[in-house]
Amino acid sequence: MMNIVKNLVSPSLYYCKCPFDMNPTRIVVHNTANDASARNEIQYMINNRNEVSYHYAIDDKEIVQGIPENRNAWHAGDGGNGIGNRQGIAIEICYSKSGGARFDAAEVLAAKFIASKLKEKGWGIDKVTKHQDYSNKYCPHRTLDKGWQRFLNMIQAELGQTTPSSPSAPSTPSGEKYSTGTPICTNTLSVNCDGTGKVYKGDWSGSIGRVIKGSKYPYRVDRNGVAIGWTNDAGIDTDPHTPVGATQSSAEAIDQILHEGSYVTSVHMKIGNQGLKKIGDDLCAYLAQLGGWFPIRLVDKVPNSDGYNDNVLHTTNAVVYVSRIRVDAVNVQKNIVKIGGVWVDPTPLTEIA
Ligand SMILES: [Zn+2]
Repeated sequence: MMNIVKNLVSPSLYYCKCPFDMNPTRIVVHNTANDASARNEIQYMINNRNEVSYHYAIDDKEIVQGIPENRNAWHAGDGGNGIGNRQGIAIEICYSKSGGARFDAAEVLAAKFIASKLKEKGWGIDKVTKHQDYSNKYCPHRTLDKGWQRFLNMIQAELGQTTPSSPSAPSTPSGEKYSTGTPICTNTLSVNCDGTGKVYKGDWSGSIGRVIKGSKYPYRVDRNGVAIGWTNDAGIDTDPHTPVGATQSSAEAIDQILHEGSYVTSVHMKIGNQGLKKIGDDLCAYLAQLGGWFPIRLVDKVPNSDGYNDNVLHTTNAVVYVSRIRVDAVNVQKNIVKIGGVWVDPTPLTEIA
């Protein structure tokens, strides 16, 4: 039996936080995407009137419960009748924003707790699901980054079951020659780190903003805090000089290049007064900054903006943003990027480190 700290929501807030009886059939795993402790995470949740709730928060030290397991919670983004929201025990793993040792320990404790929960309920590992299964949100983001199967294996290890042998991790290439922050000049800029997009020749100065070890173009070149492309050892000039024609070359629309496979967030965007429109299976909002209609399942509401507390987005004053989404493709010629299956204007997007 694991020690659980209970800080249950007042029944006077059931109408908001957990309005329905629930007979749970599964576990839904989340990452908090912030750096609050489990106690603070639950305290915040039970104090506000937002229709956002979860049963447990787990950090590196303890498991804190905020909603009884026989009540539903609002966490899976699949609506008022969704299986995630109506049948899932929601577990938030803390400290995922910054990661590191505290997050790793929180994941270990979460795996132990989930294993004990599976035993208690007589459930198999197939009952362990993730937020992403219900609403396409990239959550639990850090657990997914580190490997979902890896996390399931941790639970199975706690259950004393043999874990399927996972393929050995590829050997990490040796460190690269230059590191982040180094000022450089280069004659080569690729639109992405693997060189599959366009490669420009010219003369640019900047500093290294990011290093992806082992890539064909491992160095991201930043200028004034904006990524302008990727380069490699061969492109970097050995004796830094003042580049000629730097301004003219950089006019070549390679500013703001987002890397295929990277994750981006967006600025806050007002929905405007064009209403919502169904396109295919998706309910879409007109987001002028992204250049057109965009599925609302891919955006989050900005706290305290109009519609935040509802399951329905109000138009005109509703403010939304893309919290985290993968860049699936980049088209440099047209200066557009593909996110969530939709080609959009990249201007409102910035890469998340
Ligand atoms: Zn989540």
